[in-house]
Amino acid sequence: MKALDELTFDNRFARLGDGFSTHVLPEPIDEPRLVVASKAAMALLDLDPTIAETPVFAELFSGHKLWAEAEPRAMVYSGHQFGSYNPQLGDGRGLLLGEVYNEAGEHWDLHLKGAGQTPYSRMGDGRAVLRSSIREFLASEALHALGIASSRALCVIGSTTPVWREKQERAAMVLRLAPSHVRFGHFEYFYYTKKPELQKQLAEHVLSLHFPKCQEQPEPYLAMFREIVESNAELIAKWQAYGFCHGVMNTDNMSILGITFDFGPFAFLDDFDAQFICNHSDDQGRYSFSNQVPIGQWNLSALAQALTPFISVDALRETLGLYLPLYQAHYLDLMRRRLGFTCPEEDDQTLVERLLQLMQGSGVDYTLFFRRLGDESAALAVARLRDDFMDLKGFDAWADLYKARVAREANGGEEQRRERMHAVNPLYILRNYLAQKAIEAAESGDYTEVRRLHEVLSKPFEEQPGMEQYAQRPPDWGKHLEISCSS
Ligand code: AMP
Ligand code: MG
Repeated sequence: MKALDELTFDNRFARLGDGFSTHVLPEPIDEPRLVVASKAAMALLDLDPTIAETPVFAELFSGHKLWAEAEPRAMVYSGHQFGSYNPQLGDGRGLLLGEVYNEAGEHWDLHLKGAGQTPYSRMGDGRAVLRSSIREFLASEALHALGIASSRALCVIGSTTPVWREKQERAAMVLRLAPSHVRFGHFEYFYYTKKPELQKQLAEHVLSLHFPKCQEQPEPYLAMFREIVESNAELIAKWQAYGFCHGVMNTDNMSILGITFDFGPFAFLDDFDAQFICNHSDDQGRYSFSNQVPIGQWNLSALAQALTPFISVDALRETLGLYLPLYQAHYLDLMRRRLGFTCPEEDDQTLVERLLQLMQGSGVDYTLFFRRLGDESAALAVARLRDDFMDLKGFDAWADLYKARVAREANGGEEQRRERMHAVNPLYILRNYLAQKAIEAAESGDYTEVRRLHEVLSKPFEEQPGMEQYAQRPPDWGKHLEISCSS
């Protein structure tokens, strides 16, 4: 276990130089206080979890103190936002403080979000509000606990510094961890600004540090692109299988590592709705729940365009062609497991599609349906769940197919089925209304709710006695909360 001053830095991205990022010091926020910390994320840096409560912890992650070895930098990138190219984005309110390596030899970027203005702030104040910082913290750690790749969050530090959004709010900072903060938009920036040498330097940096095995391939950059396609196909399959809606899938919010990245107005589905739009500002529904799948491909095509200096167009096109089949294979595999199947059958895809069609418009809770389906025998479970559906005839027909399908499974009895299903079907997810309640308490200075919610979500598959209220469907007020980009 390490103390805070024992972290070992190795700032590889900073060493790329001024063409890639700009040195900026964090601008502290007033009267910093710990809102919440993740012990699991602290363990990634080998940090002793008890130090989260010490004043120096809050000072370091609110810009008041800095390690001598840290080299805070704002990264430059660009990207496609809602389908249009924005030539200059960059870290407008976050700083890469440095890269720390742990005892296992892993490097972790320390990124402080809400650290003040940078050359890339454009019209923004460089700040993040408490509300969005808590949302990012809870979502990163909850996704990780669900087995969905994500950037991680070490802590949220609150303050008394006022910031203006639609109303006056308080500034906060979230310390984000990720093995890399390189986005699709990094490659786009150097491609569209026609800086081939810097682009090559970036590509080599990414290849050697994050895709070392690809270096042994006959075409290393093509192998790297293939891995990016694969990891994103798998990631989006998990989002779809678990009902996660990212909300702002702009190419500057897409990670080359295929991790969930840059949280904004995200949501987990309550009722199943394929057309769900979680971002109140997304009028066209470009990033609606079901559109995430084709948008994943669109974003990978934007990256492919930026990689044309290194890879032939034919090879890029062929590799892009892997995305949909890979996505479908991962998705079907996950949905089979959610339904309790272990041996694939031909008609499984149809069974899944029919179920989702029945759920659509019936107001069926997406998370609880699967959890309840595994609670008891297939016959008892479908009989109990039946009442939630509008099309009873349709549901009965599906239930007959499902029961017959379960009967053909040779893998163990009732108890094994239950264990198997509960291991992949969470009881607790980060529902918007739960986040909202925790945020409202935190805004009035009470952090117990956000800490408790974080704890509950760190074991989403385990029944936690006394925590039943976190597994409930939302009350009416909590069903359609409007979450905007403002953060
Ligand atoms: P996001 O929608 O959070 O991915 O942000 C898109 C771009 O706007 C990025 O370049 C951010 O750094 C920048 N940005 C967002 N909010 C602010 C802010 N309050 N101040 C400065 N830049 C911001
Ligand atoms: Mg972003």
